[in-house]
Amino acid sequence: MISGTHRPAQIIIDRQAIKTNIQTAIAHLPAHTELWAVVKANAYGHGLLQVAATASHAGATGFCVAILDEALALRQAGFTEPILVLGITSPEYASLAATQTISLTVGSQAWLTAALAQLAKAPAANPLKIHFAVDSGMGRIGFREPTALAMAEKMVRQHSQLELTGLYTHFATADEADSAYFKQQVHHFKQFKKALKTLPRYVHVANSATSLWHQACAGNLVRLGVALYGLNPSGSDQALPYPLQPALNLETELVFVKQVTAGSKIGYGATYQASQTEWIGTVPLGYADGWQRRLQGFHVLVAGQFCEIVGRICMDQFMIRLPQKFPVGTKVTLIGQNGGQTISLQDVANFAKTIHYEIACNFTDRLPRVYLPEN
Ligand SMILES: *Cc1c(COP(=O)(O)O)cnc(C)c1O
Repeated sequence: MISGTHRPAQIIIDRQAIKTNIQTAIAHLPAHTELWAVVKANAYGHGLLQVAATASHAGATGFCVAILDEALALRQAGFTEPILVLGITSPEYASLAATQTISLTVGSQAWLTAALAQLAKAPAANPLKIHFAVDSGMGRIGFREPTALAMAEKMVRQHSQLELTGLYTHFATADEADSAYFKQQVHHFKQFKKALKTLPRYVHVANSATSLWHQACAGNLVRLGVALYGLNPSGSDQALPYPLQPALNLETELVFVKQVTAGSKIGYGATYQASQTEWIGTVPLGYADGWQRRLQGFHVLVAGQFCEIVGRICMDQFMIRLPQKFPVGTKVTLIGQNGGQTISLQDVANFAKTIHYEIACNFTDRLPRVYLPEN
C-alpha cells in the first residue's frame, strides 16, 4: 500500500514511552529472567524495526514474532539477538531458519521428521534452534501429551542438526480475575516439564498478562507484547500493578470546513441530518487506513473538545460536527491527547466492541509512522 506522505495524517509513536515501559517491566521481573519483546504484526502496528531498536536499547535481550518473514526482516536489518517464531513454520524452511539463527516453534514429532528431511537435503552450517510448544489448555498449537513431548526430546538428542533451546506454553486466561483455569494450565505445564530429561536453556510461559499478574510463574523469560506498547492486556478489567504509557497517537488535520443549514445531510446513505445550523469538518482518513466504519457516532478531539463523527465513515474521509468554526489545518486527534483531553486505543476498542490489540494492528501502511526520539 502506498504510504500517504503528502497527506496530513500520521501515527506518531513515542519511543520513550516504549523504552520506559520495557525498563519498568524489567525492573519488576524476578532475578535471572529475560525479557523478549513481542514485535509480531509490525510491532502491533507500531513499526517492526523502530520498536525492535528501542526494545533492544531498553534491555530486551531477544524478540518474538509470529511468522518467519518477520524474523528475516529483523535479521536483514542487522539485529543479532535471539528471535523466536511463535507460529508454526513450514518445515521446508528449516535450513533457512537455521542459517539465519532463527528459532522455530515445534509442536509435533511429524514436524521434526519433515524438518530433518529438509535439513538433510539442504544442510545448514548451524543446528536449527527449536522451542517446544506445549498445549497446556490454550488449544491452539503444541504437544498435547507429555509422552509425545518426551519422544520428541529423544529425537532431537539423536540429531545434531537440531538443538533444543526452549520449552514454552501460552495461557488462555492470564488477564482474567478468576485464576482457576490459569492454575490448571500451570499444573499441566509442570507435568510436561517433568517429562523432559533435561530442561532447555529457556523455559517460558509469560505473555504480558502473566508477567503483570502472575509473576511467580514467569519461568526464565517473558514474552512481553501489548504491555510494552503501554496497553493493559485485560482492557479495563484489571488494574495494572505499575503504570504503563501508551505509545501510539493518531493525528490529522481538518481539510475542509463548512457551515450547513438545518436539514442538511452528511455522508453515504445520508444517515446524518443537521438539526440546526452546524459547522461540519472533514477529516482525511477512513476505513482504508484502519479507522473502522463502525466508529460512526464515536468522537475525535479538536482544540480539547470532543467532536462527534457524523454520517458514515468513508474509505478515505469522514465528517465531524464542530462546536464552532475552525480553520482548515486545525489539528484533529483520533488517538492521544489534545488540549488536556485524551482518547485512548481502549476508548476506540470499547466503542468498536473489540480489543485494543485489534485496533492497533488494523492501521494500514497508508498511514506513515513518525517516531519521537528516545531520551
Ligand atoms: C502474541 C503472543 C504473546 C504476546 O502477548 P501479549 O498479550 O501481547 O503480551 C506471547 N506469547 C505468544 C505465544 C503469543 O502468541
